[in-house]
Amino acid sequence: MKYISTRDGSVCVSAAQAVIDGISKDGGLYVPAEFPKLDYRQLLDMDYAARAHSVLRAYFDFDITGVAEEAYATFETDDPAPLVKLDDNVFVLELWHGRTHAFKDMALSVLPRLMTKAKAAVGDRSETLILVATSGDTGKAALEGFKDVDGTRCCVFYPTDGVSRVQKLAMQTQAGDNVCVVGITGNFDDAQTAVKRAFADDRLAQSLHENGISLSSANSINIGRLVPQIAYYYSAYCDLVNAGEIADGDKADFVVPTGNFGNILAARYAMEMGLPIGKLICASNKNNVLTDFINTGVYDVNRKFFKTESPSMDILVSSNLERLLFEVSGRDAALTRSRMEELKSCGKYSVSEQELGKIREVFDCGYADDEQAEAAIAEVFDEYGYLIDTHTAAAFAVALSGETSGATVVVSTANPYKFAPAVLRALGEDAKDEASVRMFDTMCDITAMEAPQSLKDVFTAKIRFDKTVSPDNIISFIGQQYGKNDR
Ligand SMILES: *Cc1c(COP(=O)(O)O)cnc(C)c1O
Repeated sequence: MKYISTRDGSVCVSAAQAVIDGISKDGGLYVPAEFPKLDYRQLLDMDYAARAHSVLRAYFDFDITGVAEEAYATFETDDPAPLVKLDDNVFVLELWHGRTHAFKDMALSVLPRLMTKAKAAVGDRSETLILVATSGDTGKAALEGFKDVDGTRCCVFYPTDGVSRVQKLAMQTQAGDNVCVVGITGNFDDAQTAVKRAFADDRLAQSLHENGISLSSANSINIGRLVPQIAYYYSAYCDLVNAGEIADGDKADFVVPTGNFGNILAARYAMEMGLPIGKLICASNKNNVLTDFINTGVYDVNRKFFKTESPSMDILVSSNLERLLFEVSGRDAALTRSRMEELKSCGKYSVSEQELGKIREVFDCGYADDEQAEAAIAEVFDEYGYLIDTHTAAAFAVALSGETSGATVVVSTANPYKFAPAVLRALGEDAKDEASVRMFDTMCDITAMEAPQSLKDVFTAKIRFDKTVSPDNIISFIGQQYGKNDR
């Protein structure tokens, strides 16, 4: 299996190299040279780890023995991605049973193991520095995933005022000798842009290289992050068939709370591989740049950025959309590059009618502001006694407002306790803005759902990282921290 770049038609690297690099030198994202096929019928009798292994196997031709099995052994449930039936045609795919209680664990428990194997496969003995820009959940999941993994270090940048209190404390109290957490003045897009700039900085690369360090990414721009996410769409489909909820080959729809477009893109990849999916419904919060794009074909980030109760979706520049653009353009790297350049210079680009048609064949869209999301939390709890978080709520709000035919799977991306204040408010409690253990107890009394111990622990753990830097200083910060000191 070879990987090509979305921005340069001449690039072609091995699967192992694509995982190690994270992003292509030309700034493009790696995509498979062609999509492998995988018949879900082969996976029906397998457990989750074996299903995931089959998906990884289809994309990565280096030794991946034990990767999926070890990754999913860290989950709190036997089934890492259980499918819960709420109603005749409504199901919830719970993706938050990993160590950090958000869907990022589905891939970030896999990526460090994949990275280690990929480096062994190509004989790469350098130390890998993983740089992460996070809107809250990726950072913590990457830190947990890479903590004390030999040959790696992990440095996370998050918007200081753009994450929930629990998210922030969880990162600031992170254990591990090879980790570092830094607040950024600015929003997630500022953090992501600054980290992308660091990847493209030759002087930084040189200074790190002299110290035996190479850079890689744990953001969903890394193909090693995206592929493990394909597995849960296969698994959910198999579970539906096995439970007799759909007939063999029937199509299922998925509603996905979306930010960086990584989760939903994995579903699109599953379709390419042959999984019978009907519609993919892209649910946004008030930062509804994707809703507008899917409706009009114009992607325009010249708009107000809103801080919402679903901070992991507070994103205007959805990186993974680039991979979809590449596909609908007929894999035209030059065109994709010029659009990404337009986005950078003017904050805007548009696709042709024909391309928009291809997108709308598969994607529906909608968005919910905080009020609508809170209403969805209350409605789902009243109707089904089932508690959802603020991100999943955006997906439910969109799902509940649209008409559905056949099985609809709402993808649930976080444990509600991660966003306790807003969830409690939605349930009619007078919650103050800041989460606390007492607030967790109140939520438990009302909902009979237990708070995860590791989330309770963040309130008492020692803060190890409280540094804040401006986005402009990220590169010099990384240089000082990890580069060769030539003075
Ligand atoms: C990251 C995240 C999302 C958005 O996923 P993308 O892959 O960025 O689209 C949604 N919900 C939660 C809880 C997340 O952590």
